[in-house]
Amino acid sequence: MRQVHAAKRCQGLPSRNRYLTWEGSPRTECREAGRRLAAVPEGDVVWRTARRLHEALAGRVLTRCDVRVPRFATANLTGQTVTEAISRGKHLLIRTDAGVTVHTHLRMDGSWRVRPASERVPGNHRIRLILGNDTWQAIGYLLGIVEILPTTAEPATVGHLGPDLLGPDWDPAEAERRLRANPSRPIGEAVLDQRNLAGIGNVYKAEMLFLRGVNPWRPVGEVGDLPALVDLAKRLLEANKDRFGQVTTGSRRPGEETWVYGRAGRPCRRCGTPVRTADQGSDSESRVTFWCPHCQT
Ligand SMILES: [Zn+2]
Repeated sequence: MRQVHAAKRCQGLPSRNRYLTWEGSPRTECREAGRRLAAVPEGDVVWRTARRLHEALAGRVLTRCDVRVPRFATANLTGQTVTEAISRGKHLLIRTDAGVTVHTHLRMDGSWRVRPASERVPGNHRIRLILGNDTWQAIGYLLGIVEILPTTAEPATVGHLGPDLLGPDWDPAEAERRLRANPSRPIGEAVLDQRNLAGIGNVYKAEMLFLRGVNPWRPVGEVGDLPALVDLAKRLLEANKDRFGQVTTGSRRPGEETWVYGRAGRPCRRCGTPVRTADQGSDSESRVTFWCPHCQT
């Protein structure tokens, strides 16, 4: 069932648009080999989205607020000035001078588009939220979370997150401490748990474990150099945060961007062994993972 769903997600490619920093795509996990994978909403993509939203909204008065989720459908933030848009792990926070925060999360399929204010927004059932000013309108599509809350209540929403890999509070020692708190947990699950460190998604999980030669099922307590793994996660996100796409191999050529992610059954780029794939994690949160059984032990 999951496999069918994953394969369905692989259809089509994202379009680029000059107003976009990032446009989400509905094919985020794909077992099929050889297909190009679009950027998925991991920490780097969310960081970039926050920067674009900040550029378009911060310092400007909202003249449009159209919330299309039932719980907040009557919310009206017009007249308020957006002070900043930031990312916190994979969460987006848009704050106003009235002490209000718009909290959104892209989940798997969400995206934001920034368009000129003068452009007509076509009716679209995928739109969840529109925030606009005299110059720009930011349109949120298929957002997994949309909520409007007092800025003082943010800790209840994002306070559980571990150190943010791309945040000003990044603290590798704290991330390591949180990971080690559950030494028997498989490392592939532990690094995806946003309570340990915030920002890693499935692509970087698979890639960082390959690059460190660590099997995704190895218990955290048996990972030899955990600080090096945490440092690598930071470097991968930093390297990709300013560009479209997610590249860990150094090659941006289609089909060459990753070592193992999305390459099930294809030969390992190092040793030629077919890349394996399996679901990892508890049933409710299991994610497909990729690894080379020869290079990763
Ligand atoms: Zn290999």
